[in-house]
Amino acid sequence: MECVDPLSLDPQHPRRVIVVGGGYAGLTFAVTLVNRTRASDGIEVVLVDPRPYQQALSELDLVAAGTARPQFAELWYADVLRGLPIKVVHQRMESVLPEEGVIQLGPRGTVVATIPYWRLVIATGAIASVPPIPGLEEHAITMWSVADAMKLQRAIEKQFGYAARLTDPEAKHRALAVTVVGGGATGVEIIGTIAKRLPSMIRRAGHDPGQLSMTLIEARSDILFDLPVDQRARARRRLEKMGVRLQMGRKLVAVDETTAHLEGGIDVPSPVLVWAGGAHADPDAISWQLMCERSGRLAIDQNLKATGTEAIYAIGDVAAFRDPNDNHVLPMLAQFAIREAEHAAVSVLGEARGVEPKPFVPNMHGEFVSVGPGWGVGWMFGVNVSGWFAIVMKRLTYVVYWMGVGSFRLAWKRTVQMLQLRR
Ligand SMILES: Cc1cc2nc3c(=O)[nH]c(=O)nc-3n(C[C@H](O)[C@H](O)[C@H](O)COP(=O)(O)OP(=O)(O)OC[C@H]3O[C@@H](n4cnc5c(N)ncnc54)[C@H](O)[C@@H]3O)c2cc1C
Repeated sequence: MECVDPLSLDPQHPRRVIVVGGGYAGLTFAVTLVNRTRASDGIEVVLVDPRPYQQALSELDLVAAGTARPQFAELWYADVLRGLPIKVVHQRMESVLPEEGVIQLGPRGTVVATIPYWRLVIATGAIASVPPIPGLEEHAITMWSVADAMKLQRAIEKQFGYAARLTDPEAKHRALAVTVVGGGATGVEIIGTIAKRLPSMIRRAGHDPGQLSMTLIEARSDILFDLPVDQRARARRRLEKMGVRLQMGRKLVAVDETTAHLEGGIDVPSPVLVWAGGAHADPDAISWQLMCERSGRLAIDQNLKATGTEAIYAIGDVAAFRDPNDNHVLPMLAQFAIREAEHAAVSVLGEARGVEPKPFVPNMHGEFVSVGPGWGVGWMFGVNVSGWFAIVMKRLTYVVYWMGVGSFRLAWKRTVQMLQLRR
């Protein structure tokens, strides 16, 4: 790979493919395309992302709980793309001008460079969506970056320090409380990892682990709604066994510095509160002169092209692909982002060779949710799996990803790091 100044790119290049966003979707797209391209295709691949590394969002819970170092959730492009003919521009895409076939780069409200494209692939992901619940924005920690994970870690440590100075057992109990709101996969993974690590941390800090309270709040009547009913029950039992209180069926109505207030007058001590209640497609997408769904995700057709365009693809969390079987939009999951990216890369290459793109067919072969770092629930090929086997399968999907975007070297390095995680 080569880091380039956007102003140094040839403005006349006839086959420039720009991919914006180097997350699961963008990185997979760029690597798949260059690995399949021949010199005669004449394609130049430019990856645009302000960051020098991909954030592995699915590893953030491990960083927050101190199980993994922050570097574990950072996949540096220089490492992954070593030796590949990909030009990397560390800039933010400010806008797309589809009529002119160019994108503009620069910090918000500023344009520092304009680059023309032959094909554009938008993969700018999503952000945490924080609803206007009083106090939520000020007091909750979201989990969408390594910085967020470190913020959570620091908030827990600060709370431990504060509790150490308290003598009243009741006040101490209220101070040693961590709450996660959102019983989907992200919320369950975060509270599960915390529940596994916190008791030993608290013991080391000189507190009685019995004084710790951990709560998972979910407005619906159950957690993990995407999983089969018996798998949800397994996850619930596991969390309860780890000391997590499940507070389901009541909505969060307000948050203050110390407490989460739920419908029906229920208060949950929450000096540390994590919001894992949902995601919103990259909010900038609505300003790019492209069609968006009501959810804010870019509307795309069955070939993954932005609706009404010929030269723009949109993939991953930022795009709303509707499954033709039931017209449902695919969920924001890395596995779909990766599949869409592989498909889009094949389509773009086909277009360069005069082949019509084929419709994308979404297939889900399995889903795994960790409940603590060493135990999980899920299913694969229609069969339920749980326990350490589910975690092995979940981790195997990462190894396959690292092999796909990197190489055996990257997969080996990451696997060794994974085996060295603190339990
Ligand atoms: C805490 C957490 C845990 C998760 N766990 C799992 C899991 O276990 N399994 C699973 O399948 N999914 C999981 N997900 C969902 C999964 O991470 C996402 O579906 C996936 O990251 C989507 O990939 P993406 O490439 O579309 O977006 P992202 O991976 O978010 O990447 C978007 C990229 O775009 C860049 N970008 C944004 N705006 C611009 C711009 N204007 N210009 C240039 N670049 C830009 C960003 O810097 C980023 O690098 C989890 C998500 C979270 C938050």
